[in-house]
Amino acid sequence: MKYVLVTGGVVSGLGKGVTASSIGLLLKACGLRVTSIKIDPYLNTDAGTMSPFEHGEVFVLDDGGEVDLDLGNYERFLDTKLTRDHNITTGKIYQSVIDKERRGDYLGKTVQVVPHITDAIQEWIERVAMIPVDGKSGSPDVCVIELGGTIGDIESMPFIEALGQFSYRVGTENFCLIHVSLVPVLNVVGEQKTKPTQHSVRQLRGLGLTPHILTCRSTTALEENVKVKVSQFCHVPAENIITLYDVPNIWHIPLLLRDQKAHEAILKVLNLLGKAGKPELDEWISRAEKCDKLHEPVHIAMVGKYTGLSDSYLSVLKALVHASVSHGKKLFVDWVPASDLEDATKKENPDAYKAAWKLLKGADGVLVPGGFGDRGVQGKILAAKYARENRKPFLGICLGMQIAVIDFARSVLGLKDANSTEFDPNTKNPCVIFMPEGSKTHMGGTMRLGSRRTYFHVLDCKSAKLYGNRSFIDERHRHRYEVNPDMVGRLEKAGLSFTGKDGKDETSRRMEIVELPNHPYFVGVQFHPEFKSRPGKPSPLFLGLIAAACGELDVALHSCGSQRTVLNGLVNCPMKLKYRNATPAKCTNGLPDGVYSNGNGIYL
Ligand code: GLN
Repeated sequence: MKYVLVTGGVVSGLGKGVTASSIGLLLKACGLRVTSIKIDPYLNTDAGTMSPFEHGEVFVLDDGGEVDLDLGNYERFLDTKLTRDHNITTGKIYQSVIDKERRGDYLGKTVQVVPHITDAIQEWIERVAMIPVDGKSGSPDVCVIELGGTIGDIESMPFIEALGQFSYRVGTENFCLIHVSLVPVLNVVGEQKTKPTQHSVRQLRGLGLTPHILTCRSTTALEENVKVKVSQFCHVPAENIITLYDVPNIWHIPLLLRDQKAHEAILKVLNLLGKAGKPELDEWISRAEKCDKLHEPVHIAMVGKYTGLSDSYLSVLKALVHASVSHGKKLFVDWVPASDLEDATKKENPDAYKAAWKLLKGADGVLVPGGFGDRGVQGKILAAKYARENRKPFLGICLGMQIAVIDFARSVLGLKDANSTEFDPNTKNPCVIFMPEGSKTHMGGTMRLGSRRTYFHVLDCKSAKLYGNRSFIDERHRHRYEVNPDMVGRLEKAGLSFTGKDGKDETSRRMEIVELPNHPYFVGVQFHPEFKSRPGKPSPLFLGLIAAACGELDVALHSCGSQRTVLNGLVNCPMKLKYRNATPAKCTNGLPDGVYSNGNGIYL
């Protein structure tokens, strides 16, 4: 097993995750089997309890692991399926060591950070790196390990120490360290400054880690003399200094690395030049090139709670991009803060109210993503109602499905107080209820999580056709509430069709997909299809939304005879994503403004 460790210095938010994913992709393109591990030095056991507003979205894996969003980048770039153990946190490591101590495994010894925590980290990495993640058997060739945070952070110290020992333990030919750093340009003189990189490498060395390759983030390519200077001061050969300068979209990053022969440098360190081939990136290149040429717009109104931070809905955005690119359209995401659609805002902030409704009405399609808590729920219900009544294409995900059912119960069944017990525990008409197996007292990992099967109960429906007329699908879940099975009969009689359920026969009581048959495209799903969308394999339901938003659903459905046609018949390329905000929102996507920028300070 060969290991590539990616660390970051100078500032956070340099795009370390994208860099590490791109390195993985490049090595995969050379014919190697690649896996990845993300280390998050925070104390939380997993990302499940972390606010998307603070930390970006919680990514959900097949096994129900609630993990850092970077694992989403790895799965999308490398088309792999990771497990919860591929995301290491301080919380997980300490928990495993404390469990061992309580079992008496340390035989009376004093349990310490060195060697017990550091050993646990190394054992964890070695164990997880061996797990095949590409659907084939046998262990992968290379494991890319990304160390979150910035060199020098107090909480990452045990990991640095462990990785230093690890590099020694696995041997020089099996360990390659890539350090991502920043080379800023001072506007006054326009000079590329190397000092921050020098300091950061010095700090890394001081901690016992020696970088083999430096990837320098900068607005433009590093000048030759600057490269020489970095090389001399950091003791890294000039050919191993790579510049990651601003590009139109992130799908260019692997190409930037390839153009500067980063793969050769890595393969040389790992003594893999004999085993690996030339990188085959044709499909990737054609996507990256086509992306810039898209011009026909499609506007999707995203009605959410966290519209101020695009990372909160990262996978939904990616899935929208994958689908719109496949459909040959340039995506515009119109952020609509859900609470701005509510009557209360009309009085308090009429401008925001007007702007929100203008965006919603002007969009070609509406998407209500998942969410928790009651802020903005009424606005989401109004958005679903608007889409339903005005025949606007609608996709509701998880909470988005639940609020669509609430609207239907209120508006069509006339049950004015219909609600989810999440928002009104005493409602007389609970159309969405708490699931019996959930826990109201323990927050971490207690939801219905991960991959679950959905069986189609109606074959002649849009979702079944989009999924290639399969009898069942496996998608990822993350919820505590569900549609009240006791109200399904009434809802169906009034015209709502529950086309997908969790069981095969009529006894299945959990609703997974809901549709309005006489609407151009009105689909709600209890699962999160965004987590399995890939650049080359867009999610069928997102594809349906985009096609319907362009008035081309019939064509799309026609070509969906089988799942294979859906997936292979698509032209995929990334595209520029433009944002129009109802109220100005800061969209950082975890990177400083201008990094991999499309002109709006946002990258994809
Ligand atoms: N809050 C809802 C539930 O727990 C929806 C969750 C979600 O959208 N992920 O069921």
